[in-house]
Amino acid sequence: MRMKNKVALVTGAASGMGAATARLFAREGAKAVVIADVLDKEGAAVVAAIQKAGGTATYLHLDVTDEAQWKVVVDKVVATHGGLNVLVNNAGISGSAETDLYDTAAWNRLMGINATGVFFGMKYGIAAMRKGGGGSVINLSSISGIVGQGYIHVGYNASKGAVRLITKSGAAQHGKEGIRVNSVHPGLMPPMRTSGRTADPVTRAKTLKGVPMGRAGEVDEVAYAILFLASDESSYVTGAELVVDGGWTAV
Ligand code: NAD
Repeated sequence: MRMKNKVALVTGAASGMGAATARLFAREGAKAVVIADVLDKEGAAVVAAIQKAGGTATYLHLDVTDEAQWKVVVDKVVATHGGLNVLVNNAGISGSAETDLYDTAAWNRLMGINATGVFFGMKYGIAAMRKGGGGSVINLSSISGIVGQGYIHVGYNASKGAVRLITKSGAAQHGKEGIRVNSVHPGLMPPMRTSGRTADPVTRAKTLKGVPMGRAGEVDEVAYAILFLASDESSYVTGAELVVDGGWTAV
């Protein structure tokens, strides 16, 4: 039981890799998994599935761009479960549906959700962890936070690059408090709800030619990387970027 006695908050957990992570944390015996998202119906369905399998989960509405909501949610998690041990800043939107790769509204949207959302999570999540004597923050970046791409809005790469370095600053600032901060960088995965070109089979087939393992990843393959960073097995790992991309960025 790798998550025994741990209270975890996972943003964007109504769908995709966030939902897979929440399910895995529950299977690994988390004391409580709090699923936070803007998709209330889908979030409640993830909670129901976890509870049906014998796990402990609840749902809270959270728009990660809203600082006031962050405060309410983190306060509620601490009041209900006695603390916060693990925060997974996973909520995000894609930049691959934009036709204008320099569209200003899209830039603001991408930076707001993907970067500022993580900043708020660290601000309130780390404050709660400090009171409990430590914790682990896992921020979802992407290979798009490490290399550039020709077909994605520049705000996606910028926001994911920001996540990569917010993570390293967090590691530098909070190491002595027993708070670890790491980033996870998935490669080609099942498309996001907001994907455009990255959901297109022709584009995906072309991308796969550059992936040494020759296939896309599965959500659980990312969830297991997140689990490692959330668990005490990674007790000396902070400021790291864990790439989960089938070798895409290795070549
Ligand atoms: P997804 O679209 O299935 O899930 C994203 C979740 O974030 C959704 O449930 C959505 O409702 C939620 N969300 C969006 N805006 C929000 C907001 N303002 N407040 C709260 N929740 C919000 O996508 P996914 O593939 O599971 O992606 C998870 C993370 O992994 C994202 O940060 C994404 O950028 C990153 N990522 C995805 C891929 C991929 O190819 N799927 C690759 C690399 C990195």
